[in-house]
Amino acid sequence: KREAGINRSEIRAFTDFPSKGIVFRDICPILKDPEALAAIIDLFEERVRETCPGVELVVGLDARGFLFGPLLAQRLRVGFVLVRKKGKLPGPTASVAYTLEYGQAEAEIQEDAVEAGQKVVIIDDLLATGGTLYATCELMKKQKAKVLGCLVVIELKDLKGAGPNRTRVRVLPWSST
Ligand code: IMP
Repeated sequence: KREAGINRSEIRAFTDFPSKGIVFRDICPILKDPEALAAIIDLFEERVRETCPGVELVVGLDARGFLFGPLLAQRLRVGFVLVRKKGKLPGPTASVAYTLEYGQAEAEIQEDAVEAGQKVVIIDDLLATGGTLYATCELMKKQKAKVLGCLVVIELKDLKGAGPNRTRVRVLPWSST
């Protein structure tokens, strides 16, 4: 078990992917390394147990939130639910539209996935502008769920996506110090 999470070298950066001017952070090496993955899930679990008492569901974002979310949910022995890109979920859904760096997007959840009053944490691989996580928090609000916090493997801090003092998106910090 590692003491202090993962090394930055375990996250690769690819320039001009998926389009010119974008530097894409690739979390695949973490998934390939069982110790690194365990260290990440350990940290997530620790942080949620410390700061999100009574959490009832982990909500994962399409698509890389699906890689980390169920592992965390199992540790916490709570359920996992999916927030997907528009048109992927069957049955009645609730949705939220939001703006990406280039263009518009829409996220959906099955209407019966979360109950009013349920306490949730939201998980994704990366926070950039924060638009995706902010929209998902709004979607949870619409469903009357209570968001206790958000978890990401990578936060691009320069973009200030979480807002001042994390007031826009309550991203739980890696370390409690
Ligand atoms: P935001 O809405 O600008 O914060 O972008 C975050 C969303 O875009 C997340 O769902 C990420 O998976 C995805 N994303 C943005 N940049 C990257 C990246 O460099 N690597 C992996 N995913 C990214």
